[in-house]
Amino acid sequence: MATAKSGGCLICGAPLEYRTAATLHKCALCGRPVVSSIICEHGHYVCDKCHADGAIAPAKLLCLNSQSCAPWEIALEIMRLEGVNMHGPEHHVIVGFALAAAYCNASGRRAQLPKMLNTIEKRAEKIPGGTCGYWGACGAGLGAGVFLSAALGATPLGGGKLCNQLTARCLAAIAAVSDVRCCKRNVGISLREAVAFLRENSIAELGEPEILCEFSGRNAECIGDECPWRGGA
Ligand SMILES: [Zn+2]
Ligand SMILES: [Zn+2]
Repeated sequence: MATAKSGGCLICGAPLEYRTAATLHKCALCGRPVVSSIICEHGHYVCDKCHADGAIAPAKLLCLNSQSCAPWEIALEIMRLEGVNMHGPEHHVIVGFALAAAYCNASGRRAQLPKMLNTIEKRAEKIPGGTCGYWGACGAGLGAGVFLSAALGATPLGGGKLCNQLTARCLAAIAAVSDVRCCKRNVGISLREAVAFLRENSIAELGEPEILCEFSGRNAECIGDECPWRGGA
């Protein structure tokens, strides 16, 4: 049986197959039919909603109670939660949540945080797992753009320029590292780029991330010493 934090199938722990073509599957947990390219080698499929279930609500609570102005510190606390898997689409929401909490704490906007978190959740939870390989746009990078849009109140008619610039910067930094995805690494890279971007554009002064990973032992595809986030156990 897989633990909730392993990188494999949530049902049986077996490795996941990332296929190039999508087919129809029934979620093993909720029964919902979903077209997807990702399935366990024993045929189990878990939909994105069930995959992230148990992570988003406690993550939101943690953000609402955090006093931190450092998004990586907040993200690290979230990623240590029992319901957060090694990899998965919950990381797209985590990037947005951690940035929103740090931003609101750093700029005296705590009253705006509950609404901002709800907006980020509604948008970022729609980004499916595997978009790094399937869309050419890692969801952790997209999550940073979702945060900035929510913070600035951007719409397709205004404010989107900065949001796209931030997303592009995160994606470029993610792409510079490796072909093999790691959701933890891409959260860290996105937060590092977002902190620099917000400072350069005089939007906010947030705490710098520490280059340290405590998840590599649970990541079967960890790139080891090539990872800029390596350094921990
Ligand atoms: Zn399985
Ligand atoms: Zn499901």
